[in-house]
Order: sequence, then C-alpha cells, then structure tokens
Amino acid sequence: MDVKSRFLRYVQVETTSCEANEGCPSTPGQWDLARMLVRELREMGIDDAKVDEHCYVTAHIPAKGRQTTRLGLIAHMDTSDGVTGPTHPQVIDRYAGGPITLKNGTVIDGFGFLPALVGQELIVTDGTSVLGADDKAGVAEIMQLCRELTAPDAPDHCAMCIGFTPDEEIGRGADLFDVAGFGADYAYTVDGGALGELEYENFNAASCRVTVHGVNIHPGSAKNQMKNAALIAMEWNSLLPPAEIPAHTESYEGFYHLCGMSGDEEKAELVYIIRDHDAAKFDARIATARRITDFLNARYGEGTVECAIRESYRNMREIIEQRMDIVEKAKAAFTACNVEPIVQPIRGGTDGARLTYMGLPCPNLSTGGFNFHGRKELIPVPSMVKMVEVLKRLATDAD
Ligand SMILES: [Zn+2]
Repeated sequence: MDVKSRFLRYVQVETTSCEANEGCPSTPGQWDLARMLVRELREMGIDDAKVDEHCYVTAHIPAKGRQTTRLGLIAHMDTSDGVTGPTHPQVIDRYAGGPITLKNGTVIDGFGFLPALVGQELIVTDGTSVLGADDKAGVAEIMQLCRELTAPDAPDHCAMCIGFTPDEEIGRGADLFDVAGFGADYAYTVDGGALGELEYENFNAASCRVTVHGVNIHPGSAKNQMKNAALIAMEWNSLLPPAEIPAHTESYEGFYHLCGMSGDEEKAELVYIIRDHDAAKFDARIATARRITDFLNARYGEGTVECAIRESYRNMREIIEQRMDIVEKAKAAFTACNVEPIVQPIRGGTDGARLTYMGLPCPNLSTGGFNFHGRKELIPVPSMVKMVEVLKRLATDAD
C-alpha cells in the first residue's frame, strides 16, 4: 500500500471531534480509525502498537544500526467540524490549471498556490465535507514511513516513537498524552499545511468569558434603577482597541476575538479568545481585559461584571529556543529532499506547543495540504510522497 491509498482509506473513516462532548475521545468514530491503525502497525510487525483507554495510539520501532536518538512523530486522528458529514474523496489525475469544480458545484479558485500545482495529482472532496487532510495526511505519511522502516531492506535509522492522538481540533489532543511512556527525546507533529512548512512559534492563548449581571425593571419606571446588562456588555467591548481583531491583524500581531455573545437586560455574556505571540504583550492583553472589568465595576457597582480568563496554551518558542538543533534537523531534512523550508509563526496553536511544555519539545511540520477546515480542502499526492521522504530523512539522519 502506498501513502495515497492509505490516505484515501483513512479519510473515509468519519472522525469529526465534538467540543460539546466531555469524554475522551469526544466521538466514537475515532476508535474506528485508532483500531484500524493499530491493526496495520501490528501487521507491519510492530508488536507494541496499542490504543489506550482514551484512544491514544502509540507504537515504537527499535533502532536499526547505531543511532541512539529516540525520535517522535505525532499526528491527530480527528477532523474539524468546519463542515460535518462523511468524506467522499475525489482524485484528479492531472490538474490542468484553472478553477476546480467539485461534484456538488463548489468551485476551488482564486488561491495563489493553485498555479504551482498544475500537472500534479490532487485529492479533493465532492464538496459536501472537509477532506480531513488535517490531519489524516499526517497520519498516512507517518504510517507509510512505518511501513518503509519495518521493511527488510530498510536503511539504518534511529528508534521511532509513533503517536496518533484524538481530539486535537477541540484543543484536547495533548491532555492525556503520556509523554514518559512515549519515550521520545524530541518529536514533530506532522500537522502543518503547504509542503516545507516548519513551525516552532505559536500564539500564547487564553479564553475570556465576560458575564454582566444587570438589574431589570419595567422600562416605564426604570430611571436611576435599571442596569441593562446587554448595554454594559457592549460598553465592555467598546473599551477594547478596535483594530486589534483578527480581521485587521497578521504575522506576529495579536488580537482579541469576540466569538460569541448573548444577553438581555438581566444578564449578558461575551466570549473572546485572546492571542499574542509575545508573552509580555499577551500578559498586557489579559491585564487590559481585567482593567476594563474593574472600570465598569467601579461605574456600575462591584459584582456587575465578571471576567473569567483561562489560559489555553503558550508559545513553544520559549522552550524550543533552547533546542534549536531540532529545528535545524528539520530544515536539513527538507533541504536534503529538495524542499525549501518555510519557517513561519503559526497564528494558532498545536498539540506540539502543549507537549513542548509537558517536556517533549515538538515543532510542527507540513503535511502538504491546503485550505484546511473547509470544503475546498485539497492535497497534492506528490507532496504526501515527498513528506514520507522528509520524515525518512529525519529517521535516517538522526544522531
Ligand atoms: Zn490539524
């Protein structure tokens, strides 16, 4: 089996994760993929391949030769709920250029990366769901590498620690990851986009829930009595810097993002995510949210506004800066495979960021895919083939 046929098989297992479900895994379909992967790993002769009680798949391949590094590779099995429903992958044998019209009429067009893909074999959907290259491309590439490293004619390589996680898309993929049991010296998540992407900087991230408690009184007799929670919530938002929102920021610029609001005179709620690459600026954003809350409580009475801030993840750069050798190794592997490394900050987070703070330094590598989380998601087959080659380089060139 090659990486393409693996990918086509894995994407047909429905593994959409679900934020509303508290359990891990959040959806039963992830078990189906986990068991399929364990079965395939065992068939390759990897006897310790297993899935634990929370649907984390692990497997270890002993070193062949004299290398002592234990290299980890990690991908997530769940897919985004951006568009739900089963995935029906479609293969375009040779992309001729121009707009791609999917079966249901959805058109993929106007993306700057498309011209470079002319002549390549692409995998898209029928337009009714995400493709799930995020992150089943990562899963397929790692699985194909396992196949190649367990073949009798495999080259010498370091010891490999393989991990497939559930529920990354809902921010829980690292929660129950057994770093000690995994046993890697360092690792990479294979969960990025375009071929060559190499990421070791991500946002510092927090969620922020603002609750306003109002006083509701018949509007006819409300003078000097009513505190309208909905209006106070609007005031809270108006005190944020207006341009520091996702629609006005890029690269290293942070933001406040209002992602939910509800309310009436009695009670109102605002939900934000707060993001910044720079730790000091991130802390300043949190301080701003608290200051606005204090200001409005001084104006309307103590206890009117509550602000609950929960840190989600930190920028892995702080830790990786002390392990730049693993970034250099990734760059070297790409370069050795004639792929230009594209080092860029992630405007988001990864499981690797969390794992980095749990003691496993873990930058992120490309999968080769594009347009994640939507119906226009696609992946060129040659990029997947290339990524297997890059991962193999990491394994054969490790110390
Ligand atoms: Zn992903």
